[in-house]
Amino acid sequence: SKRDGGQQHCFYNEEMARLALSRIRLEADLRRGLNQDELTVYFQPKVDLVTGALVSLEALARWCHPRKGMIAPAEFIPVAEACHLIAELGEQVLRKACHQVQRWRLEGIYCGRVAVNVAAAQLRHNRLCASVAAALQESGLPPGCLCLEITETSLMQIDHQVLQELQTLRGWGVTLAIDDFGTGYSSLAYLKRLPITTLKLDKSFVDDLPSDDNSVAITRAVIGMARALGLRVVAEGVENAAQRDFLLEAGATQAQGYLWARPAPRPDFAAFAIHCRC
Ligand code: C2E
Ligand code: CA
Ligand code: CA
Ligand code: CA
Repeated sequence: SKRDGGQQHCFYNEEMARLALSRIRLEADLRRGLNQDELTVYFQPKVDLVTGALVSLEALARWCHPRKGMIAPAEFIPVAEACHLIAELGEQVLRKACHQVQRWRLEGIYCGRVAVNVAAAQLRHNRLCASVAAALQESGLPPGCLCLEITETSLMQIDHQVLQELQTLRGWGVTLAIDDFGTGYSSLAYLKRLPITTLKLDKSFVDDLPSDDNSVAITRAVIGMARALGLRVVAEGVENAAQRDFLLEAGATQAQGYLWARPAPRPDFAAFAIHCRC
């Protein structure tokens, strides 16, 4: 009835107002948290699929909230993106990750390259080279020990200036990975133009290996394409031995997932063989 509709309308308005308010609070809280240095970085190993040796680490943001405890990125990255805090957040993670990995290197732990996620906004601001240079200089980490992970979707929007920045970074020895590969629609021709070294096969395909035919086909296609272009493939989100065995047989070289380790403030380095230059 009209009356019910009216009540429903009223309910939605209240619900929307409540959501908007909680969003505004979260936004203010995140701004405060970034200023108070509450952001922290966890590290997840990437391993060589054949030997199981540690080859690299991915740096993943966590928000160590004074009241709410540790908050996962799914809760605050979208907020950071919506309220233009993502570039600041990304730069903090980059600096902290470089510092931490350099400290481990000085302890004698050569844990391979550290991969840091870069958001689309960080590319658009055209100061990626400057912030990478600053992070490397402050920490003393060699450029060859840094990898930047850029999602396939944000790479599809880049202009000439960003392409030049990526080429400059590559010239310094920084490696570049396409994150969440397979979820966007990049063409082979497009991939060839980018100075990338690595494709990260998205977890959504790995999840259904080896039983789902489509995931199997996509995984084989990505690995074949990477081979043809001389790129490394890292499979993400590997949780069980059946997935690992399939990926090995299909020719993937590296993987990351709970099967080996969850993200942690300090990976259990003693649990891995380490053979890397960085
Ligand atoms: P991503 O870049 O695809 O990172 C991989 C995510 O998969 C991480 O989630 C990791 O903990 C999770 N993961 C790894 N192995 C497994 C597995 O075997 N099983 C399952 N279920 N999950 C696994 P996390 O740390 O929650 O990060 C989520 C996303 O948040 C990241 O996805 C990335 O898109 C974003 N993110 C995290 N840190 C940053 C950052 O510093 N900057 C930006 N721009 N984005 C970030
Ligand atoms: Ca990533
Ligand atoms: Ca990913
Ligand atoms: Ca992913």
